[in-house]
Amino acid sequence: MEKIDPFYQSVLNFYDNASQYANVTQGIIDQIRSCNSVYRMRYPVQTSKGKIKVIEAYRVQHSHHRLPTKGGIRYSNHVNQGEVMALATLMSFKCAIVDVPFGGAKGGVKINPWEHSEYELEKITRRYTVELVKRNMMGPSIDVPAPDYGTGSREMAWIYDTYRAFNEKEIDAAGCVTGKPVTQGGIRGRTEATGRGVYYGIREACSFKEDMEELGLTQGIKGKKIVIQGLGNVGSYSGTICQDEGGAIIVGVGEAEGAIYKEDGIDIHKLLKYRKKNKTILGFPGATNYEKDQREVCIEFPCDILIPAALENQIHKKNAKKVKAKIIAEAANGPVTSEAEKILNKKGIMILPDVYLNAGGVTVSYFEWLKNLSHIRFGRMDKRFNQNTYGAFADLIERSTGKRIGKQERDFLTRGGDEIDLVRSGLEETMVTAYASIRGIKRRKKNIDLRIAAFVNAIEKIGSDYSTMGIFP
Ligand code: NAD
Repeated sequence: MEKIDPFYQSVLNFYDNASQYANVTQGIIDQIRSCNSVYRMRYPVQTSKGKIKVIEAYRVQHSHHRLPTKGGIRYSNHVNQGEVMALATLMSFKCAIVDVPFGGAKGGVKINPWEHSEYELEKITRRYTVELVKRNMMGPSIDVPAPDYGTGSREMAWIYDTYRAFNEKEIDAAGCVTGKPVTQGGIRGRTEATGRGVYYGIREACSFKEDMEELGLTQGIKGKKIVIQGLGNVGSYSGTICQDEGGAIIVGVGEAEGAIYKEDGIDIHKLLKYRKKNKTILGFPGATNYEKDQREVCIEFPCDILIPAALENQIHKKNAKKVKAKIIAEAANGPVTSEAEKILNKKGIMILPDVYLNAGGVTVSYFEWLKNLSHIRFGRMDKRFNQNTYGAFADLIERSTGKRIGKQERDFLTRGGDEIDLVRSGLEETMVTAYASIRGIKRRKKNIDLRIAAFVNAIEKIGSDYSTMGIFP
């Protein structure tokens, strides 16, 4: 029998565990468990030195219960078919949990992006896009990629440009990929979206006094000590927003080059500047250093909240018993293995599951896709109208009370929403509402954790779509 990738196996274990609690018939449970389409590619690319390199790449569409399918593209040396299938499966659940009307998908290219020149990365990215376009596996109503580990807005701009070259007359072509630069049809707030969603999710979880008391913690995110593994897109925004808007204290960070710990707090802005200049977090003033071969020790640092924001399988059965955090906030996909989860649950640690917590990225990708299909920036039609209406209200209040409203207050009250304000407000609403649903299921079903509750929520929503679809004899 073919050996299943451990990450994919872990996702299937979570699914099998949760599906027992879902009110969905067995055949549909089996359908939702499987990946609908798996496309494996091999294509040649000429490197800067004139050599030919064969690129191994994948695109998996897990579920077509809603279209388009949606999911990031990962560039990493560790990419394999099972990993991409695991990530595509998680995407379907993620979209359902935050009520984003997409099926799940994921892409992967087996390269180390930091070892390739920009020229080579562009060729690899454009050729990957061509492979998808050739097979009709991409488009605004078919499958819409986005950034993930090792990719960003630059790669998304190349993808959009390549797609457009083949679909010159398609008016909605910009909706073929999300996470694009704002100048290329992107949306303000997409780059920070996953990290900002992580912040809203943690803030929500910490806002329930009784839940925090069960963990021996006080209510609220303010003053909570946080450790972050991975200071890339998701980790750096999670850290800066938790610090700046939540008043949390970052005490430890783990990166590829090592880990640092500083009990009285690390200013995350200063650390990001330090790393940019020195190309390492090691040596940050006042912090204790742990070299590269000990970098995993960040998982064991004393703190209230541990945010794994690097890659999957980072908390496993060997280090799970040494975790000191009371809350694990899964910013990365699959950072806790199913074996580790059993140990963490026994220790009474609360896990905010990836399928909920890092859904901010796909939520704002959804907003970007809507913007592309509607061909108009959010706020363009109503910002001035709202400003004028709120201004008239402020005048009325001043006239009827005889008191003047201060400039700062007036500016705040009469401000119409810009695109960034509306994106942030839509994201906050999404994360708050989704947490309430998951927490509600957890409390109703009793003896289940937040991951099972999140999966049940997703399975029932996807199951409901399947049950109304024609199942042909
Ligand atoms: P990224 O490439 O921007 O950053 C990842 C960081 O992790 C890098 O700085 C890298 O050096 C570091 N890293 C790698 N191995 C490490 C190790 N062993 N220990 C510590 N640090 C290590 O990637 P990203 O987009 O921030 O994605 C991170 C995770 O979040 C992935 O699991 C990804 O699937 C998930 N995610 C990303 C998004 C998104 O919008 N980018 C959305 C949802 C989920």
